[in-house]
Amino acid sequence: MNRPYNFSAGPAAIPAEVLQQAAAEMLDWHGSGMSVMEMSHRGKEFISIYEQAEADLRELLAVPPEFKILFMQGGGLAENAIVPLNLSRAGTVDFVLSGSWSQKSAKEARKYVADAHIAASGEDSQFTTLPAPESWQLSRGASYVHICSNETIHGVEFQELPDLKALGCDAPLVVDFSSHVASRPVDWSRVGLAFGGAQKNLGPAGLTLVIVREDLLGHALPACPSAFDYKTVADNQSMYNTPPTWGIYIAGLTFQWIKRQTEGGLTGVAALQARNIAKADLFYQYVDQSSFYVNKVAANCRSRMNIPFFLRDESRNDAFLAGARERGLLQLKGHKSVGGMRASIYNAMPIAGVQALVEYMREFEQRNA
Ligand code: PMP
Repeated sequence: MNRPYNFSAGPAAIPAEVLQQAAAEMLDWHGSGMSVMEMSHRGKEFISIYEQAEADLRELLAVPPEFKILFMQGGGLAENAIVPLNLSRAGTVDFVLSGSWSQKSAKEARKYVADAHIAASGEDSQFTTLPAPESWQLSRGASYVHICSNETIHGVEFQELPDLKALGCDAPLVVDFSSHVASRPVDWSRVGLAFGGAQKNLGPAGLTLVIVREDLLGHALPACPSAFDYKTVADNQSMYNTPPTWGIYIAGLTFQWIKRQTEGGLTGVAALQARNIAKADLFYQYVDQSSFYVNKVAANCRSRMNIPFFLRDESRNDAFLAGARERGLLQLKGHKSVGGMRASIYNAMPIAGVQALVEYMREFEQRNA
């Protein structure tokens, strides 16, 4: 089946193979006589789905044994409260502002912590650059340091995670990796906790992934809701309350899809990383040689997942989007806060989708230049 290419920032495209398998299993999952949505989360069928999903994710992201994998609800924005409720001990937290999502995190944390300290900010450059880690003003004795490793709106990505120890900082690093989880490997030696909503690279909205180092559990503030206390969630294998069963199932199918991916002798997340680099290079190379389009983000921190770009003549925006839709290139309108266009090219976007977009952009440029 020939589906259009969907460049949505999220909820975003899911691999067709995953959707097809879910459709085939919808009425009767593996002879159980039920769909996954209709099963008890405590029954053996769902437990097997959950255990497989967790094991596959642990393998794919090489999550070390001292980290717990939690399947929660509430999305990235709820984590902006849940993380300080669990980790802050109500003291000081350092934030690195690299775009809208880290700004939102710092704002929310102020409700729970005495000092949500801004250690660095890229705001002066309208978030087109990332402040170098060596320049961060880290607090002594902070409970943790928060970064958003891929800013979905501004299109800024940490090409590698900061090494806080090398900066003389003992605090754990908290990473919002919502919009590039599973697009590249993670260096867990630099991470205390990582969280992300599933609706970009892992599956449907409603599932939130938290991967947290064990020693950070058990320090929640008294006001932390039990269902959001990481220790309670971990002690109950993410089943203290009813987990988002459908989301876990689709994420599990997506993990199996990731395991099947190959690229130049690589498999799994490494294969996707290679493909994501090739996709992003193709797009940026075209935009950079064009005088018709522009991407303003500094080359050393350009996102491989979310690419905001602008037509230099913005009066052509509507015509650009209409022509794209006609070609089966969907959801390219930029976020309302920055305008222009945005191409989100998550794991599920094949290189052919980026080629089709670049081809359309070239033709549009030739017709309108
Ligand atoms: N963080 C990032 C990086 C995001 O891209 C998003 C959603 N686009 C969020 C947090 C918020 O996630 P949710 O809408 O699931 O709360």
